[in-house]
Amino acid sequence: MRYDITNIPVAEMFEQRDGCPICRIRNMLEERAVEYITGAAMMEPDIRMETNKQGFCLDHYQQMIKKRNRLSVALMLESHLDEIAANRLSGRPAPAKRSRKAAGQSEGERSHCYICTQLEDGMQKMLATVCRTWEAQRDFQRLFEEQPCLCLPHFTALAQAADIHISKKERSYFVKAASNLAKGYLENVRADVHHFCEMYDYRNAGENADWGNSKDAIERAVWYLTGRSLE
Ligand SMILES: [Zn+2]
Ligand SMILES: [Zn+2]
Repeated sequence: MRYDITNIPVAEMFEQRDGCPICRIRNMLEERAVEYITGAAMMEPDIRMETNKQGFCLDHYQQMIKKRNRLSVALMLESHLDEIAANRLSGRPAPAKRSRKAAGQSEGERSHCYICTQLEDGMQKMLATVCRTWEAQRDFQRLFEEQPCLCLPHFTALAQAADIHISKKERSYFVKAASNLAKGYLENVRADVHHFCEMYDYRNAGENADWGNSKDAIERAVWYLTGRSLE
């Protein structure tokens, strides 16, 4: 049977209380996808056909190269380059009208990375599971509220998923609980960014300057806004 990267126990992921729980789930999915694609999936002809067509984005090439032997990345590159030579560089370009239409529609927005595509599909499933578990289990509601924060993209993603997967009656309670987590972090990081800016005032110069928690305020604000840590 094909390996399922979304086989993740959601409640267990919420038992840890460290940063955004949805980032934790995303990171786990991403790690599994990278591991799988450079491991067992190398032998799956239908997956190789897809990776030959789509290739990967820069982030995921980097993660694959870091993770595994360079040979499996090279083998995928070899057949991906062959696919490009055979299909994208041969013949005449599509007529202007058609390519404009394609660019305006799905083509421009379509993910050109096999792992990103897997991740997007996997995240939709996981967000649905979070919503359904929240609605069905009181214990999980408590775990949810006890999270230290939600990053902004995952707050948005959860609110959108709630529209589909949580009953009308309960939805506003869920969105309220989620927005409390996102808002709490925003207020803290906003204060730290302000403190950071103040430290550039000449009155705060000198050895005894009190930076408080503001030294990594930029990094934390960027993480909050993007759900990704700066390298
Ligand atoms: Zn997040
Ligand atoms: Zn990608």
